[in-house]
This record gives sequence, structure tokens and C-alpha cells, in this order.
Amino acid sequence: MIYSRALFQELTQQLSEAYPMEEAEAISYRLLSHYLEVERMDVILNKAITQTFDFSAVMKRLLALEPIQYVLGQEEFMNMTLDVGKGVLIPRPETEELVQWIIAENTVSNPKILDIGTGSGCIPIALAKNIQGSEVTSLDVSLDALSIAQKNAQKNEATVDFIYHDIFDDYDWKGSFDIIVSNPPYVRESEKIMMRANVLNYEPASALFVPDSDPLVFYRRIMQLATTLLSENGKLYFEMNEAFTDEMIDMSFKIGFESMILKEDFMSKDRFFLIKRTNKENFKC
Ligand code: GLN
Repeated sequence: MIYSRALFQELTQQLSEAYPMEEAEAISYRLLSHYLEVERMDVILNKAITQTFDFSAVMKRLLALEPIQYVLGQEEFMNMTLDVGKGVLIPRPETEELVQWIIAENTVSNPKILDIGTGSGCIPIALAKNIQGSEVTSLDVSLDALSIAQKNAQKNEATVDFIYHDIFDDYDWKGSFDIIVSNPPYVRESEKIMMRANVLNYEPASALFVPDSDPLVFYRRIMQLATTLLSENGKLYFEMNEAFTDEMIDMSFKIGFESMILKEDFMSKDRFFLIKRTNKENFKC
């Protein structure tokens, strides 16, 4: 008979070769829950384990620092389970904050929403499900991401119009949007040295990194698109790099926007940026 505490300790011990103790424990709990339906409380009560699972392949991947989310093939986001795999960015807690903010501000408006950079589909799916009457379109340049996002939408019963499109190309847009949202790549190449191997070696670079020579390239393009795509009183929401607060404000003014809100994330870093159309703008480009 195998007892849950012994198995938990064994997994944690192995993982601690590659992870700090707290993280090793958190991963062990996730493994036990996912593969054996053994929860934290079962470990605390040291319940006997009735099923078996061979963890060796999983352990090998984890010890090579592959993110637990890719190993399990899923991540929780806004109370949904989303499939994730190499090729899509793992949804982050700060992005959940962004989505919660958008939902809180836009509950009664039946908005038309455009999400730029679909990834796993976490943003458009959560918005489609939580804002009644919303009509959500989401774009990505990655077919891998779009196919995972499409599956996630189906699994979570959300209606999202996914489009394969590069925002730097022209597009024949029909109508305007009340909300545009984007969590584009915003980590500078020079910031790589501060990032962990599990992100660097496994997550899609195209979803994360921007050149140091033009770190706001996506923001500029999206702000420019928003000058024609945002409806009257429309709002443009961004997740952003905390190092570029002044530059984000500057760029918005230069393009001709007049009303902006900056918001911190749970780590007290400047992380979210909202531009509101006031309809008095005089756009310059
Ligand atoms: N917050 C992410 C990270 O630090 C970056 C997300 C992004 O580039 N849009 O890994």
C-alpha cells in the first residue's frame, strides 16, 4: 500500500534537485491532484492511494525544467481549464487581472471586442463568457495558437471569431470595436538574462520578446489601428512592460489620444494601460 504523504515527499525530493522547495511542493501537489486525484487534504491526512501512476516520464520533463503547465497540458484561467502546449504562452495571473478589470468595467454594454494576439485564447474566451452580449474577434499570426484557442473556446462553450492575421498587414475591417485588448510581446531581448530557463527554453519567443531597438513596436501599431477601429467612447486595454510607463503615455499623446489610465498589477508594477476615446481627439497618424 502506498500512502499519499510518502509519495508526496518522494516527488518533492526529486523535484527539489531542480526547483526551490516551495515550488517543488506546489508542483508535487499539482501532480498528485492531476494524475491520482489526491488532493492537499488527502496528503495532510496521509490517505492511502488506491490508483497507480508511473511518474518517471513526467519527472524527466519537469527535471529538464519544462513548465508544469505544458507537462499537464493545461492551466487554469478565470475558473476555466485551458489546454496549453508548446506554441502558446502559458496564461499569467496578471493577465487574469487585466481580464477581471475589463469585465468589471463593461458588464452592460453588449460590446464588440477585438483581441490582438490570441495565444491560448485566455483573454477572448474569458471575455466572451463573462460579458453578456459581447461579440468577440481574436487575431493571431500563429496557426498553432489559433488551433489551441479554437479548441479551448469549444471546450468552454464560448463563441469567439478567430482570425489568422498579422496586424502589420492591411486588413479590410468591417465596422468598429467598443473594446480593443492586447497582451502583445513586451519583454526586451536584453531582459532575457533575468528570465527563468523554464520560460526561455520552452515558451514561444514570438509571444514574449521584442527588440531593444523598438520595444513598443506592437503598442504603436495597435494604437494607430485603434484611431480608426475604436468606436465612439471605445476603450483600448493593454498589458505592458513596467519599464515603459512614460513612453506609453508619450506615445498615446503623440498619436492624439487624450485620456489614459495606468494600473498596477498585484506585484505593484505598472502593468495595465487603458486608453479611452473621448471623441475630441485629433489624430496625428
Ligand atoms: N508577463 C510575461 C512574462 O513575464 C510576458 C508576457 C508578454 O510578453 N506579453 O513572461
